[in-house]
Amino acid sequence: MALLQIAEPGLSAAPHQHRLAVGIDLGTTNSLVATVRSGSAVCLPDAQGRNGLPSVVRYLSDGAVDVGHDALKAQKIDPLNTISSAKRLIGRSLDDIARDQLPYRFGHGDAVVTLATRQGDKTPIEVSAEILRALRQRAEDSLGGELTGAVITVPAYFDDAQRQATKDAARLAGINVLRLLNEPTAAAIAYGLDNRAEGTFAVYDLGGGTFDVSILQLSQGLFEVKATGGNSALGGDDFDHRLFCHLLSQCGLSQLNEQDHQLLLGLARAAKESLTTDESATIQATLSDGRDVSATIRREEFHNLTQHLVAKTLEPIKQALKDAGVGKAGIQGVILVGGATRMPHIRQAVTTFFGQTPLTNLNPDEVVALGAAMQANVLAGNKSADEWLLLDVTPLSLGLETYGGLAEKVIPRNSTLPTARAQEFTTFKDGQTAMTIHVVQGERELVADCRSLAKFTLRGIPPMVAGAARIRVTFQVDADGLLSVSAREQTTGVQAQIEVKPSYGLDDDTITRMLKDSMQHAQDDAQARARAEAAIEAQGLLEAVQAALALDGDLLDEAERQNIDQALADTAQQLAHGDADTIRQAVQALGQATDTFAARRMNRNIQRVLQGKNIEELES
Ligand code: ADP
Ligand code: MG
Repeated sequence: MALLQIAEPGLSAAPHQHRLAVGIDLGTTNSLVATVRSGSAVCLPDAQGRNGLPSVVRYLSDGAVDVGHDALKAQKIDPLNTISSAKRLIGRSLDDIARDQLPYRFGHGDAVVTLATRQGDKTPIEVSAEILRALRQRAEDSLGGELTGAVITVPAYFDDAQRQATKDAARLAGINVLRLLNEPTAAAIAYGLDNRAEGTFAVYDLGGGTFDVSILQLSQGLFEVKATGGNSALGGDDFDHRLFCHLLSQCGLSQLNEQDHQLLLGLARAAKESLTTDESATIQATLSDGRDVSATIRREEFHNLTQHLVAKTLEPIKQALKDAGVGKAGIQGVILVGGATRMPHIRQAVTTFFGQTPLTNLNPDEVVALGAAMQANVLAGNKSADEWLLLDVTPLSLGLETYGGLAEKVIPRNSTLPTARAQEFTTFKDGQTAMTIHVVQGERELVADCRSLAKFTLRGIPPMVAGAARIRVTFQVDADGLLSVSAREQTTGVQAQIEVKPSYGLDDDTITRMLKDSMQHAQDDAQARARAEAAIEAQGLLEAVQAALALDGDLLDEAERQNIDQALADTAQQLAHGDADTIRQAVQALGQATDTFAARRMNRNIQRVLQGKNIEELES
């Protein structure tokens, strides 16, 4: 496949003019902002010297908004007005999310999720915008000027709606988005440019609540995402929770109130983090009823308690390798991303799985923001883009509905972005003047099993016989992963197009489920497709025979007519209730029953022509 260069047109800077551009890692748990200073990427700390900003927003009673550490601290006392993990909700509908598992009051929005706070209903876009606004403020304070723009990172599996919603959040925060960049790609940029790496790389990202794995190919300054996978309900939080449960059983505690629960969970998290460097950790607390809790845990014990969580990350890696068509041996390097990959048993498991020591010379919490900053520096025109190119992939196939409810794939999954593909379609009915283009996403053969993204209609097709119109449908996915679809009738040039912005999106669980479904149902799907194809043929033949009987029925004697009527009835019966095989048999029988009739009609038509008359004249 041809590789396309991604460069922002019209963005080459005047000499000596340095534009202020930043990279932003908008994380589920923590967010960061970084920039390139004197040629190297650095994170920008807050006034207290902390790089990470907890992705938590609190709406206070005086109308003010707290973002970050203060909001995180207040979560225990003001949970309903303090929103964390907005990234899990962004660009998604109420139907998409497990509402009962989230500690919020939901607002009354129909398709879009809103959270009820004392400052009114807030969408996840508004919540994310608060985080972005805080980071923009931090950057402008520390760089001393207004930002030209930012590169914001998103998970590779984010769909169109989630990407759009992230862009909307940035717009609300007054940030000019230079590009949305996939998180693993950003990590690879940070490593690739520093180490001049070549080959196929795996990016293992274990954050607070999510696990993502990506297979990337780097060569001669070219980045290409080959496959992605993961688990959206697995992260550092699960390790905290396991340690917390262990603590409860060790100390013989059961029923805790919410405050004690939060207290011990927080201590478990701190203990987990200290076990990364220390051989043992001690947890000490006084509960609200005055009881003292004290426990010591050794690193080895913690590792045994959580080994099953570590093992859980290996399955998605195997799948991603398979999707990318590479074996473990084909992986030149493994990049660790996310705070939770600091844990020694994670590093050990990754080392054993790949048979090599992972790359860890960059800080795993910062690597995504650093890579984004490098990309922003290029896009803002401070550095030539010739040095490297950037390529991502589509997580699911994109296609459209064709006659009979079948999904025709136009852009297969894992296609490199940006990409554009065109396919020609035609009309099914005589005189058809409009065609509805139904854009779908998914791996299954039937439209009913795929996700509907958008519908639009191409009108003004001149009336022609079925199959004569040539409608070229072009799918285009840009470097940010956003899809637009256009349709053009080739002989007349009439066109219609749409930019696909679904009202809600897919999370990686849904993507994983859809992929799994497509594999499990491959057999069913093949049968369903075969049936639909046979049905299209049967329907066409039924209509043709009926039209012929109306026109030339007089060519048949009574027995012949009865025979054909019987075959017609059989075909209609199979069309309604039969499977692919029985429909085909009925079609074949109908074909045989009408053989002689067809021959006689041909003779009659030849005679008509020989009489100097045009067939159409006679038919009308
Ligand atoms: P996200 O990408 O979800 O925003 P991060 O990459 O910031 O998340 O990772 C946050 C997770 O990393 C939390 O579970 C946190 O406890 C964990 N973490 C941070 N530092 C350490 C450490 N030193 N040892 C173990 N886990 C850590
Ligand atoms: Mg992250």
